[in-house]
Amino acid sequence: MNQSREVTFPWMGKKYTELLAQGLNNLGMNIRLPPRTTDKTIQVGVRNTAEMVCFPLKPTLGNFIEALDNGADTLLMYDSRGQCRLRHYWKIQEFILKDMGYNFEMYNVNLNNIFPVLHKLGEASYYKIAKELFQVYNQIKEVDTEKERWSENKPNIGIIGEIFTCCDERTNHGIEKKIENLGANPVNTVTLSSFIRDSIFKKIHRPNGRKEYDKKAEKYFNGGLGGHGRENISYLLELVDKNIAGVLHLLPMSCMPETSIEPYINSICQKSKTPLLRIPIDENTAEANLETRLETFVELIKMRSNK
Ligand code: SF4
Repeated sequence: MNQSREVTFPWMGKKYTELLAQGLNNLGMNIRLPPRTTDKTIQVGVRNTAEMVCFPLKPTLGNFIEALDNGADTLLMYDSRGQCRLRHYWKIQEFILKDMGYNFEMYNVNLNNIFPVLHKLGEASYYKIAKELFQVYNQIKEVDTEKERWSENKPNIGIIGEIFTCCDERTNHGIEKKIENLGANPVNTVTLSSFIRDSIFKKIHRPNGRKEYDKKAEKYFNGGLGGHGRENISYLLELVDKNIAGVLHLLPMSCMPETSIEPYINSICQKSKTPLLRIPIDENTAEANLETRLETFVELIKMRSNK
């Protein structure tokens, strides 16, 4: 047990973040979560980074600033080791925060170093770390079973896009709840457990015919794209195949993988006559505007379903 440090990491979805915090506490870490993300958190992030950088960097930077102000001294940040900017977030955040005068240690966590990093910060054995991570994964999967469920009596609306905007309810203004309140059922394909499955278990096991969709999606790409770009095309092909009533594409403004696949998404939806609504999100996205567009979209889908 290492209680001398106060370890923190940014919010991404309330339930996910709390489950991860609990898991890390069980591994002997003294976790101090940042205050929940507010408009002020986002503004603090916006003020201290580049205007055109993709949106998730801003609230996560704001989270770190507020956590450091509250006494945290050790920062944990996910490092995708992938092809988009997410690979560099922790380096950029570390640079900005040191430049602002904060004193802390930053640890990037990726698939290669997760065991040594968690062992160093919590002093738990590798066996205990593996057991705890597996348990947290199962708890997250339980949350996601609900998010991925299809309805038999309401029009289903598939959600694809960038993981932070699809999973963080502060960022997407609780879009899943809003869809439910409008009388439709959200089928979120971009959940944290699907992300873990796609990143770690993909090579070992692909459930329920996913391999076929992955293969069909391959033809759109010239190698890796980063983020969830390839997976989104694969999930979209499956949604369309299963006659989804409509598709919602959520993405942060200037997200490289998601803007790259826009033409593919448009064409797949157009050819299959699937209604598509794209919502780019940044600090200027007004909730009222998002609500109006969503309401019109869901009404249109309900009218089509009734016909
Ligand atoms: S997936 Fe998009 S938003 Fe996320 S880090 Fe990569 S470029 Fe930025």
